[in-house]
Amino acid sequence: MTVKIAVAGSKGRMGQLIIEEIRRFEDLELVAGFDLLGVGAPLGGGVTVSDASDMADVLRKSRAQVLIDFTTPVATVENVGVAADLGVNLVVGTTGFSEDQKKEMARVIEGRVAAVISPNFSIGVNLFWKLIEVAARSLAGYDIEVIEAHHRNKMDAPSGTAAEAVRVLARATGRDEIVYGREGQGLRGDEIGVHAVRAGDIVGDHTVLFAGPGERLEIKHQAHSRQAFASGAVRAARWVTSVPSGVYSMDDVLGKK
Ligand code: NAP
Repeated sequence: MTVKIAVAGSKGRMGQLIIEEIRRFEDLELVAGFDLLGVGAPLGGGVTVSDASDMADVLRKSRAQVLIDFTTPVATVENVGVAADLGVNLVVGTTGFSEDQKKEMARVIEGRVAAVISPNFSIGVNLFWKLIEVAARSLAGYDIEVIEAHHRNKMDAPSGTAAEAVRVLARATGRDEIVYGREGQGLRGDEIGVHAVRAGDIVGDHTVLFAGPGERLEIKHQAHSRQAFASGAVRAARWVTSVPSGVYSMDDVLGKK
């Protein structure tokens, strides 16, 4: 059985790679692509870019089973509502959601469709989140700093991956004070420090640094290309059509939960 997939943000950096990835598999079919610009442009296989405002109509006509969305937080929340109304499952890679936006998505998804929502679809980062949890539990009292670097066009800071790392570290250590960057006078306290670098075409680096008396440990992930995210998202799209409704993480897809 072929899985029919639609892509929101089809002309974006991630959207284009995801479409290439879908085409690599005979059991997957790109049936629609949505974007704000380039409406009517070919996406291959006879599919053209549709206007995002026609999403409901196009999803229905194309019989899409999954919508993969890598756009912006405001767009994604709206797209999730449209897809859930139509019973179209979801893979959401957009980052930078507020807590309210996350709750709103969970509310419309629950009981209607299955959705994999992850700030990072790479296998390495999903292991990175586990490794930093182990380190944080083992290195009691060590100072913790999260440092991330991304390309100059990234909209949100800190990255969704760093934000998830902070959640993991706060849960593991019980520390609830987070300091974003530092300036001026004052000593470090017990906080988790977070630093975002934006430069050039860096795909995505994340480091968690644990420092104690006379030593430091750094756990680092570097994405060499966006391919790791695209293949994870497409793997999630195939998986999400086979599970009951609800919100899932990439760990569920990887069978690590
Ligand atoms: P991008 O190149 O700016 O692509 C986003 C695309 O979405 C653009 O083509 C944009 O169109 C389009 N768009 C905006 N609103 C839309 C709507 N309502 N419907 C359909 N398309 C719409 O950005 P990117 O680098 O691909 O990243 C996209 C998101 O994915 C970001 O939040 C990023 O942080 C996240 N991301 C996640 C992962 C992961 O593994 N989870 C990995 C990489 C990136 P215009 O350009 O015309 O506005």
